[in-house]
Amino acid sequence: MSCLKKIIEERERIMITGHINPDGDAIGAGLALLLGLKKLYPNKQIEFVLQDVVPNHIKFLKSTSKIKNIENRELEEYDLVIFVDSANPERVGKVRELIKDAFIVNIDHHISNTLYGDWNRVQNISSTSEIIFNLLQEDLNIKIDLEMGEAIYLGLINDTGNFSHSNVTYKTLEIASQLLKIGVNNNYLINNFLKSKSYARIKLLGLALSNMVYEKEKKLTYYYLPYKKMIEIGATNEDTEGLVEELLSYCESEVSLFIREEKNGRIKGSLRSKNNIDVNRLAGLFNGGGHIKAAGFTSELTANKIIDKIKESL
Ligand code: 5GP
Ligand code: MN
Repeated sequence: MSCLKKIIEERERIMITGHINPDGDAIGAGLALLLGLKKLYPNKQIEFVLQDVVPNHIKFLKSTSKIKNIENRELEEYDLVIFVDSANPERVGKVRELIKDAFIVNIDHHISNTLYGDWNRVQNISSTSEIIFNLLQEDLNIKIDLEMGEAIYLGLINDTGNFSHSNVTYKTLEIASQLLKIGVNNNYLINNFLKSKSYARIKLLGLALSNMVYEKEKKLTYYYLPYKKMIEIGATNEDTEGLVEELLSYCESEVSLFIREEKNGRIKGSLRSKNNIDVNRLAGLFNGGGHIKAAGFTSELTANKIIDKIKESL
């Protein structure tokens, strides 16, 4: 029996959790694991709990209705907590406060992962969803069904930029191919997940592209969105997703930065790199992290200070 299987079999009250502002990978990986474990262990108490609600553009996936948050969770205590797609335990926000003496499993693909689990599966591959696919099949001997497959496929699309980033390997595509074989509908998922932007999101994209700044010497493109502007357009946090990738699509740009002011005045930053610039290091300047080519942070500094600090260290 695999080590992880033994860890799960010895425990009854299980929580799966993932990071705040959940994306398709955190949701896909957590859901596929939830569905798989529920199938394998119908008598165990298992729930997937997130601090934040499921973003609107992911709700089309019906199984997301099985995700709980802090208010509607059913269990008070857990003896096993499985973190997915979370580089450190703080990434799950308030969910962390629910955890007392549980055994911690850490399943993730971030280079900045601090190996905080009692058991860790941290691999440098496309997505946590890719790890979950392997884990369900190989470690837990679970037959992946259509519902699990759709969740995993969503994670793959999310973290590979629709199969375009350098983290795509033949193994990623083999998994995608196996998922199509069991009935996952590629076009349906892409249309619903990527081609279903709100009016405000399209307007915001236009605004960002017309006002972006290009720092020629640093090959940096950036855009800052003040909170006031966001309210003016009627955009939500969700509507800002993917914007940083659009900034990087300028042919001269090697690195892009998107920063937005939150309601409380703090700044949320997203960084992307096309080739060799390590944005995990840049995010680390503000105690954030992620991957070499995609990273993020939250900071108390002003937008101008953040931009200056990044320019200085490029
Ligand atoms: P995004 O820019 O899309 O928010 O995030 C890019 C990558 O960096 C994702 O893999 C995300 O999990 C990670 N990331 C974003 N914000 C933070 C943060 O504040 N801390 C850490 N450690 N990672 C982050
Ligand atoms: Mn991920």
